Amino acid sequence: MDLRDLYQEVILDHNKKPRNFGEIEGAAKAAGHNPMCGDRVSVFVRMDGEQVAEAKFVGNGCAISKASASMMTEAVTGQTSADVHALFAAFQDAVTGKVEPDEDQLGKLVALTGVKEYPSRVKCAMLAWHAMLAAIDNAGATVSTE
Ligand code: ZN
Repeated sequence: MDLRDLYQEVILDHNKKPRNFGEIEGAAKAAGHNPMCGDRVSVFVRMDGEQVAEAKFVGNGCAISKASASMMTEAVTGQTSADVHALFAAFQDAVTGKVEPDEDQLGKLVALTGVKEYPSRVKCAMLAWHAMLAAIDNAGATVSTE
């Protein structure tokens, strides 16, 4: 598989310099594991009422999983729990090729929707998102893409 098409500049940049990389002490947390690729991610989220006040992640994995986690933490900050659920659904529909990506809603995340051509990579892109929802809905959960 040739990944060059996927490695757009924005993905490379987030992989090299992940944003919001680190832990948040005392925050809601969930871990995710993608056995197919070996990606592991832990997501931390601090809520202020219904709103995401701060989101961070740590983990190891391929460029797609890391860039997706990095871009996700930026995208969800300041959003309500309901917004994050809606964004998750829109992102999932776009990366699985169910719908054409909506740039107005997804913003920079559109860069990741190229994975729809590579079904095994969809799990890499979705991993941090599954963990994020788990952290928001049910602190301490562990999610797996399997
Ligand atoms: Zn991966």
